[in-house]
Amino acid sequence: MQIRDALERPLHDLRISLLDRCNFRCPYCMPESEFHDAYQFLTKSERLTHDEILKIARVATSLGVSKLRLTGGEPLLDKKLPSLVNGLAQLDGVEDLALTTNAMLLAPVAQTLADAGLQRVTISLDSLDEDVFRQMSGGRGDLATVLEAIDAAEVAGLSPIKINVVVERGVNDHTILDLLDHFRGTGHIVRLIEYMDVGNRNGWRMDQVVPSRELLERVEARWPLRRVDRNYPGEVARRYEYEDGQGEIGFISSVTEPFCGSCSRARLSSDGMLYTCLFANQGTDLREPLRNGADEDELADILSRIWLQRADRYSELRRPDVAEHHALSKVEMYRIGG
Ligand code: SF4
Repeated sequence: MQIRDALERPLHDLRISLLDRCNFRCPYCMPESEFHDAYQFLTKSERLTHDEILKIARVATSLGVSKLRLTGGEPLLDKKLPSLVNGLAQLDGVEDLALTTNAMLLAPVAQTLADAGLQRVTISLDSLDEDVFRQMSGGRGDLATVLEAIDAAEVAGLSPIKINVVVERGVNDHTILDLLDHFRGTGHIVRLIEYMDVGNRNGWRMDQVVPSRELLERVEARWPLRRVDRNYPGEVARRYEYEDGQGEIGFISSVTEPFCGSCSRARLSSDGMLYTCLFANQGTDLREPLRNGADEDELADILSRIWLQRADRYSELRRPDVAEHHALSKVEMYRIGG
């Protein structure tokens, strides 16, 4: 069965946040000043167990989900991840099982995750300039470790490897061409992401956004590109390939070219809240019914009701002036993944 929301968008992707903790402190997501050592993260008992995640995922696939993405915080902080991956990979209807990570912990487990059934990885890497990388990871990342992990993921067959780059004017936009040059010809797909007003703590301003069309002009001034079709209707990235055959890049333009019309993504936080938009200001608690013994039919009713009523299209309705000045209380990105 494929359920559709109030705007006829199918439920196709489920993003599953495994925990709210991260070993980075990226200023646009988890600024150190807010998420310091004394910050109270969720306790183990507040987080869904792997069995609970599997149950929700099984119900979601029965309603049409075919793509599962594991995210965080940083999902590789979950040391039992391979067994969860194995369980999810065996669910009927799962065609795509991916992981988003900052890759600091990836190299030692890449092969184990691939053997468990993980199909591919998306790696967050905002710059190859050491200083800029350190600034954008909150001083906690190590560039060499991330680059080694990309090689380890390739050896393990976790491909195509996507490299997500959040582009912020005056922070890393001057280093984007060097990053693209590094990955040209590798088969890895770099996606340039417009800086977004996610959550409530990154002090987002419109003048920090480098519109994709401007980035496209910068790239094309160096390497001619041609547009290629989306892999599937709800795919977020606008895809291009180098005319000289050196591979593919993508642009994710939530601010200047929103794509809510085909958005097919639901998000599950690690404490069991289901959100129907990255910028949602409220979710639906699935943990309580789960722990009160709800069976899969009851869970399916809850999920269907949520999705059938869904009409989110924040990015289409975003008013940058409002987003700048009146921080609408939105769910924090570290709780649901990007
Ligand atoms: S703003 Fe919300 S509805 Fe629009 S594409 Fe993003 S997650 Fe989907």
